[in-house]
Amino acid sequence: MKGPLLSSESVGGSRTALPIILSAPPDVQAKLSATVCAHVQLHARRIRITFGGPDVAAFVQRDAAQMPANWIKLFMPTPAGGSVGRAYTLRNLDLEAGTFEVDFVVHKTGAASRWAQAAQVGDAVTFAGPRDGGFHLLARAPRLLLIGDATALSAIQAILSHVPSDLPVEALLVLENPTEHETLVAGPHVRVHWISSAEDAPGEPGALENAFNQLPAWLDPCQVWMAGESGTVLTARRLLSERWATKEARIHSKIYWKRGISHFRT
Ligand SMILES: Cc1cc2nc3c(=O)[nH]c(=O)nc-3n(C[C@H](O)[C@H](O)[C@H](O)COP(=O)(O)OP(=O)(O)OC[C@H]3O[C@@H](n4cnc5c(N)ncnc54)[C@H](O)[C@@H]3O)c2cc1C
Repeated sequence: MKGPLLSSESVGGSRTALPIILSAPPDVQAKLSATVCAHVQLHARRIRITFGGPDVAAFVQRDAAQMPANWIKLFMPTPAGGSVGRAYTLRNLDLEAGTFEVDFVVHKTGAASRWAQAAQVGDAVTFAGPRDGGFHLLARAPRLLLIGDATALSAIQAILSHVPSDLPVEALLVLENPTEHETLVAGPHVRVHWISSAEDAPGEPGALENAFNQLPAWLDPCQVWMAGESGTVLTARRLLSERWATKEARIHSKIYWKRGISHFRT
């Protein structure tokens, strides 16, 4: 880590020796160490891992790490002796315990998914970040639309915990099996629509489009945050641009993964 930067200031027209200490921003690319402290299989498709250790304890104190929906690059060992880096969302930062959690969506073929299934308390990984500014509620944003899939659930929960409790929020959550999900903790003005992607039939408007059509008209315009599989994000973007007055500047979207592509990056 770089040391503090020193500067000096001009007072009354003459240079003085008054130092101003500017701390160097943390290096978000620096690799930090983490140890698995807990491993919980929430259901067949979701594993929650708690990470701790001295680097994690320092990392969770950073303001940037605490921004909702922020994420890190986790580097996990592979059986062949190498490592793979994948993006994962920070959740439940515990400043006293010095830990954070990551929810892994388990699927068939991925190296990260495989690592999460086999991980045991005491296993070591490295990580770097946080990689983003996280979610910011726009000034005077009167209402919010959240759209995501299982990989975006951690981010959406963090956003829901962060926004004012009187903010009207509609959330569209596309899951393979909506009965398999954690209960979202949300304020009284939040409506969550659990959508089953398994109901999509070829040639028909998808489940997301049907749910989108049922959103209340008063929601538009609003701030929009969306993330998930490429198809979900692109469909939602198309529907918004075709039918809604919400301006591009109020829409944040990120493709988290793309079906058929390993380690997809936008
Ligand atoms: C900013 C950001 C935050 C993210 N946060 C999370 C998070 O908190 N939790 C989380 O689980 N994921 C999260 N993701 C998505 C995660 O990084 C990807 O799913 C990643 O590809 C998983 O790596 P892998 O090694 O398991 O699979 P890969 O090697 O990348 O992919 C192997 C195959 O599996 C498919 N695949 C990848 N992910 C999935 C999936 N979720 N379901 C079904 N098939 C898949 C791929 O299309 C490919 O065919 C996030 C991504 C980004 C960019």
